[in-house]
Amino acid sequence: MLGLMQNHPLLISSLIDFAARHHGDGQIVSRRVEGDIHRYTWKDVQQRAKQVANALNAEGLNAGDRVGTLAWNGYRHLELYYGVSGSERVLHTINPRLLPDQIAWIANHAEDQILCFDMTFLPIIQAIHAHCKTVKKWVALCDADKLPQDTGIPNLVSYEDWIGAQSANYSWPVFDENTASSLCYTSGTTGNPKGALYSHRSTVLHAFAAVLPDAMGLSASDSALPVVPMFHVNAWGMPYSAAMVGAKLVMPGPAMDGKSIYELMESEKVTFAAGVPTVWQMLLNYVGQNNLKFSSLKRTVIGGSACPPAMITAFREKYGVDVLHAWGMTEMSPLGTLCTLKEKHKSLSEAERNAIRMKQGRAIYGVDLKIVGADGTEQPWDGATYGDLYVTGPWILASYFKNEGGDPLEDGWFPTGDVATIDADGFMQITDRSKDVIKSGGEWISSIDVENTAMGHPAVAMAACIGMPHPKWDERPIVAVALKPGAEVSREELLKFFEGKMAKWQIPDDVVFVDSIPIGATGKMLKTKLREQLRDYKLPTL
Ligand code: AMP
Repeated sequence: MLGLMQNHPLLISSLIDFAARHHGDGQIVSRRVEGDIHRYTWKDVQQRAKQVANALNAEGLNAGDRVGTLAWNGYRHLELYYGVSGSERVLHTINPRLLPDQIAWIANHAEDQILCFDMTFLPIIQAIHAHCKTVKKWVALCDADKLPQDTGIPNLVSYEDWIGAQSANYSWPVFDENTASSLCYTSGTTGNPKGALYSHRSTVLHAFAAVLPDAMGLSASDSALPVVPMFHVNAWGMPYSAAMVGAKLVMPGPAMDGKSIYELMESEKVTFAAGVPTVWQMLLNYVGQNNLKFSSLKRTVIGGSACPPAMITAFREKYGVDVLHAWGMTEMSPLGTLCTLKEKHKSLSEAERNAIRMKQGRAIYGVDLKIVGADGTEQPWDGATYGDLYVTGPWILASYFKNEGGDPLEDGWFPTGDVATIDADGFMQITDRSKDVIKSGGEWISSIDVENTAMGHPAVAMAACIGMPHPKWDERPIVAVALKPGAEVSREELLKFFEGKMAKWQIPDDVVFVDSIPIGATGKMLKTKLREQLRDYKLPTL
């Protein structure tokens, strides 16, 4: 027997229609590539997204055709999010920090028909346009008078000209909620990147989960700043979840330095922000150096790579900002776990509560987790036993775009490539990417633990721990360290700093000082590159 309730497919267009109708005057604030601030409302987003849809019709794009973007967080990108997906095409966000060859490879693999780009990336487009075989129109996200004449790019139009010729009179089509909505390629640190193809259903369900109180807890009373880019996993879904609850949305454009982010937070009374640790480190450095405080910021979600405990403590204790440590991946839309405490934790001491906050957190409804040992059996949730982390749920990838790499699932579970523990309360803690695990004398050493400890030293800006071959122990850890500007610490002092904080055999054998730790296109440390840089390195203990 079927239920007797209305059957509305979960479509992305319903989010923008809801925001326009119920939060029509809710503000959208963007820092533009030109540097100025642009303001308008959710109602305006809806109207201009409909102009985008009409422009795509005028180009003759079919349902399912891909429209690429190479763009910062900003209002025009937001309009494309809704106009492209809402009209049943697929929004393909591309990471502009990749090499031009990789960008061309991805655009060709996705068979993008139109590619929209911020003017910052004009040189990239000039370098690759001739190699992008399927792109028939290039759209520069700028005013008509900002488009240079002699770019050498055929079929180039300014966004404002392109949508300006269209009316906002458009009815969103209604279709199966499992239809593809957007596409994001993984970082591809090994081999070619692979596409995660999200659906309307997965995106809307993910937005529902993201706004729950134990997740991001977003509401209409928030001023929300996604510093996480809209070109990588849809800025953790914030363009959708902000519309779902009618939050004010503040977008930083290209200005990601500590000063610009801080000033935007203050001027727009931002209450909630989301970002990766590397960006927050720049913000904390700026705020610390200038003796500033946050006047409106209440909480921030930090994820994408392990958030150093020192960062969580600085935000909480120095600035009164609650940090939610979160974990996820491109293949998971991306949210999997967030670290919010349970009622039973109220009676714990602050130190005990802090120890929990350092973990990557609990699964949100919709996501299930398990850890699996080398023998293939599920491991206990005791907070100590490590295992390969597997996930399953309705916003988790079932197979890659064009079925690249075959069926990734094992018994319906997606292998994350992370190694983790889960405690009795369901709090998961990542110890490593499986390829970064350091095995010393048959025991695993968590590179994240080593890095977190090193980052607790006031002179250290960034630390990366890797294993080095050792004839007796197989591998021993060393830590590469980049110091804060003007800060000093010796190798011996830093090694001493580890004492009492980690077991003796887990303490790295050496400290290597570097100018900077190599960072990849999504703000994560590139350990492959660091290993290359330290190719000729020899352990001092040998
Ligand atoms: P990506 O798909 O590029 O977003 O990368 C996903 C990977 O980033 C995960 O599989 C983890 O290895 C890593 N990651 C994400 N969030 C965290 C976190 N909070 N702590 C540690 N690693 C993380």
